[in-house]
Amino acid sequence: MTAVKLEAGSATDVGLVRSNNQDKLLVAEPLYAVADGMGGAAAGEVASAIAVQTLGEQLAYRGGSLSPDDLVEAAQAANRAVWEKAVEHAEMRGMGTTLVAATVVDGPRLAVVNVGDSRLYAMRHGSFQQVTVDHNLVAEMVAEGRISKEEGEIHPRRNIMTRALGVEPEVKVDIFIKDVDPGDRFLLCSDGLPRELSDERISAILRRLADPSEAAKELVHEAKRHGGNDNITVIVLDVVPDPAALADPVTTSHEVVAEVSPPQSSEPHLATAPPAPTPPPASHQRQRRPSPINLRVAAFLLAFLAILAAGAVGVWYYARSAYFVGLNGDSLTVYQGRPGGVLWFKPTLDHVSSVTTAHVLQASLPELRAGVEEPTVAAADDFISNLAKLYQLSRSAALPPSTIPPSTTTTGSVPPSIGPSSSTTASPPTSS
Ligand code: MG
Repeated sequence: MTAVKLEAGSATDVGLVRSNNQDKLLVAEPLYAVADGMGGAAAGEVASAIAVQTLGEQLAYRGGSLSPDDLVEAAQAANRAVWEKAVEHAEMRGMGTTLVAATVVDGPRLAVVNVGDSRLYAMRHGSFQQVTVDHNLVAEMVAEGRISKEEGEIHPRRNIMTRALGVEPEVKVDIFIKDVDPGDRFLLCSDGLPRELSDERISAILRRLADPSEAAKELVHEAKRHGGNDNITVIVLDVVPDPAALADPVTTSHEVVAEVSPPQSSEPHLATAPPAPTPPPASHQRQRRPSPINLRVAAFLLAFLAILAAGAVGVWYYARSAYFVGLNGDSLTVYQGRPGGVLWFKPTLDHVSSVTTAHVLQASLPELRAGVEEPTVAAADDFISNLAKLYQLSRSAALPPSTIPPSTTTTGSVPPSIGPSSSTTASPPTSS
């Protein structure tokens, strides 16, 4: 595919009836846009100016080649900018603007966004057709087959738009993707042009005049000659080879149309003041391309969760990888876990031994109440056996046989040589 660029010619005129020109155009290679403002006093001019300015600012800082998503996001930003201005200034309530904007994206292809009834036409090999779809009550009636195209052209409500930029906090933006080849010609225009000139008349001028600037001036001149009832703005874009750029080997399919933002009401918007600036329903949220910042936040959260999970596994392993001997009532008992537990991992009872507090030295009881850690169950059992043996040795060495107490009694079982008696009843170190 040949690398291409656009050469532009443009013209705008107040027309013969209106007192001011509420149309605005943007020619800032590689971005081109037409906005047709609407609203009382000077509000329409403000709306269209904010729209093209915001669009240009949004895309200027991005650098590199633009993507269709860039264009849609910039149009959404332009919508919010106009909306916020209208909310801030009561005298501008209800203002809005159309917006049709185009730029070359990778492919190369032409990406076009549209809100309202400004238009983009495409001409290839003499074939001329409208690419964008007007957001206009009558255009929709024609599209639905309720009236004919001819009836639509004289319909009294043909100026009522169903979608415009800046009249609601969110707007649905149509996007169109067109293949481009050297020799293709595109036309962006406000409705002041097709209101005066038929498609045949427009295409004849575009075929006759090769220079885009001459063609743009002639289109405006002819529209004024046929009435000039509205502001007229046109941008003629010629696709030409770009020897400065390397060809992109990627080729793409034909026209694609995608809607990328919330559905809007079928009611005309411009007759009413903007509604309260409430966010749209969640189900209507726009599909947005994740920004690098969002991706970084997501990566950080994932890493954070992974660290938390690893930490939890480590704590679990530490908490459960040991045993200890403690007291369960009077019985020396083996528990799995750590005395007192570790965080939310509590020890569990492994088994109760036959040895009671009556069969161990009183001096051993404090550490048994606290829990004596052992690495394995076998080691814990050995520890208990050793305590019992120690007691037996101590007893046989220090006491006469007549002083041996009953094994089930917990008082009076302590040899006088060991120390005073105390309660030997202990709660388990912790619940299981
Ligand atoms: Mg207009």
